[in-house]
Amino acid sequence: MTSDILIVDDTVENIRLLSKLLKDEGYQVRGAADGKTALMLCDKKPPSLILLDIMMPGMNGYDVCRHLKEQPETKDIPVIFLSALNELTDKITAFRAGGVDYISKPFEALEVLARVATHSRIVTLQRTLMEKNAQLKALAETDSLTGLFNRRYLISQVNHRPVPYSLILFDIDDFKQINDQYGHQFGDEVLICLSNVVMEQCREQDIAARWGGEEFLIYLPNTHLKQAKQIAETLRVNINQCCCNQARSISASFGIASQTQGESLELLIKMADSALYRSKLKGKNCVELA
Ligand code: GH3
Ligand code: MG
Ligand code: MG
Repeated sequence: MTSDILIVDDTVENIRLLSKLLKDEGYQVRGAADGKTALMLCDKKPPSLILLDIMMPGMNGYDVCRHLKEQPETKDIPVIFLSALNELTDKITAFRAGGVDYISKPFEALEVLARVATHSRIVTLQRTLMEKNAQLKALAETDSLTGLFNRRYLISQVNHRPVPYSLILFDIDDFKQINDQYGHQFGDEVLICLSNVVMEQCREQDIAARWGGEEFLIYLPNTHLKQAKQIAETLRVNINQCCCNQARSISASFGIASQTQGESLELLIKMADSALYRSKLKGKNCVELA
């Protein structure tokens, strides 16, 4: 991606010279003749890099930089100061204001290009790193077959939220038989189809996870047992009507537990699991409460 560079300088001739220099190297360039205009342009569309003069009428470069560093949308834009001020204290003030580099005027074209290239490369690397991190985070939280959250994510979220909740644990009935009869791939399709049913039914605040092979856990914050039972009942019926139903009927058995006295997640899962076990004993395709 080409860097989009904002040049801020009250001397229009400097903007013209620097623009030509950078455009010739393939950069996209914008100019601002004062601090206020620069901040407005950054607000509209943050550039990937800023070349910032210090001595300007109105707002000086230090103040522009400090302002940018205070805003979440602009705080990560690298600012290279470009100034005729040449004392060590000026440079230190520039770095303290949040600058990443300092070029003295009159500037040398090759030095400007070298420093801009270095910081553009860092920007690109940082963006790539952030994208990869987001991808890794999604991978670490998601079950790859169904797209639901995984066990690790659900546990981490429940432990971070100090609100009473209910859990719905359910397990597909006779899934081994389904696999044996129609093949493992059909089994996978059932898992996907059923997960879509779950996702459609979940409210924004709920977290649904694939808990194990054909077992699912739904975390319902601020939901009491009666409400959770209704949700599970609807889900049970929707699973019965799930799209892969043509070949054979699909059903699941449910166990529900609710937190009433600050019970641990571990204990509630055990309680939901016992309830689920009871619904299997009762003939499957039903909902049991802990
Ligand atoms: P019950 O009604 O008592 O729950 O019986 P069940 O057959 O569903 O339970 P069992 O634990 O005997 O079998 C679960 C099966 O789920 C066995 C396993 O091969 C299958 N399974 C687990 N994960 C997957 C998966 O990712 N894809 C497919 N296709 N099958 C899976
Ligand atoms: Mg099962
Ligand atoms: Mg099972």
